[in-house]
Amino acid sequence: MDLYSEYNSNPRKVLICLGTRPELIKFAPMVRAIQERGASLVTVNTGQHTDLLLPLFELFGIKPQHNLESMLAGQSLNALGSRLLERLDPVLEAEKPDLVLVQGDTSSAVMGAIAAFNRRIPVGHLEAGLRSGNPLSPFPEEMNRRLVGQIAAHHFAATERNRRTLLDEGVADDSIHLVGNTVVDALRQTLKNTRPGKTVELMQQWAAGKRLVIVTTHRRENFGETMSLHLRALREFIESEPDLCMVFPVHPNPNVRAAVAAELEHHPRIRLTDPMGYCDFAHLLSHAWLIVSDSGGIQEEATALGKPMIVLRENTERPEAVECGVARLVGESPERLRDMLRTALVDEVWHASASRSRDVFGDGHSAERICDLLFGTASKSMMPHSLPLAA
Ligand code: UDP
Repeated sequence: MDLYSEYNSNPRKVLICLGTRPELIKFAPMVRAIQERGASLVTVNTGQHTDLLLPLFELFGIKPQHNLESMLAGQSLNALGSRLLERLDPVLEAEKPDLVLVQGDTSSAVMGAIAAFNRRIPVGHLEAGLRSGNPLSPFPEEMNRRLVGQIAAHHFAATERNRRTLLDEGVADDSIHLVGNTVVDALRQTLKNTRPGKTVELMQQWAAGKRLVIVTTHRRENFGETMSLHLRALREFIESEPDLCMVFPVHPNPNVRAAVAAELEHHPRIRLTDPMGYCDFAHLLSHAWLIVSDSGGIQEEATALGKPMIVLRENTERPEAVECGVARLVGESPERLRDMLRTALVDEVWHASASRSRDVFGDGHSAERICDLLFGTASKSMMPHSLPLAA
């Protein structure tokens, strides 16, 4: 039986539920595209991230109609989940959207999907079909994705692999749409329409003539010794060649701050900064010689930009970045990180081939495609099944 046959397929009112930095970056092109269609749009900020989000709303010119302020210090995942459900429900009741859109794998995404389902509102899932294969890693994100996958009526998959994963899980073919990832839209629009701020211009002058390594790390599974040893290896690497320099926007999490303070402070060729605004960060990324990060979104951006990347993780839900030759997975071992950093320096063939931009995660037109589908201006047969599956 088609669970969703009762749903209205052409939404007049769309509600976007978001709450973290990557969700806002990836939803920004959707907000713009939906507004361009003249459709009614309600944006809900669950407030899962606070300080990281405010400058982003400003950058993208988005004013959420509802701010749920769901975050409390030290709150458990269950406490966060129940607050989200409790605060989302009256919004759904008041707004009565025809469709709720969620993105990725956060608590905001999964609770947004459950809240909508309980009110029999169809859910569209952006970045559907990513799987690490391990229900406990990344935790709880892998399970969040799977749960949203069970609820969604529309699955917007970024790659052919994601589409096939959903098909293998029994999701109906005609509810899966291969559209690419809106992060590529966000990245391209930001690089095209903005200029970096003064701080980044000064940073670029400081890095001129040197090889710029950009580092970010904040994933729970790296906290503690693993993170400290990774950072030590990175410092030694920067010290090993006088033309290497590093910029590291440090995540506010205290575990990250402590490791960075112990391992990376007081080096003339290492700049530690607060998390950067997306405009500044995107421009800086486009000048990187090498990226070292455990971020999911940055794997997609590195691939789109053609920036060699070392991924500080054991596994990735984005194997396309590795398969297309841009990224290498390092895992926990600091020795392996040391070897990979050295290889980036001496293996010019790898560095050159990893420095080609690839459309593996999208071509910058994903939001338009999703809107074409939602508002009935595209048919399934028009979908770009030609978006490449990584070799
Ligand atoms: N990012 C940013 N400023 C920074 C570091 C990262 O704007 O200082 C952006 C980055 O370009 C990417 C997103 O934040 O689009 C990734 O967010 P995060 O690493 O928090 O989440 P993940 O992608 O791992 O879910």
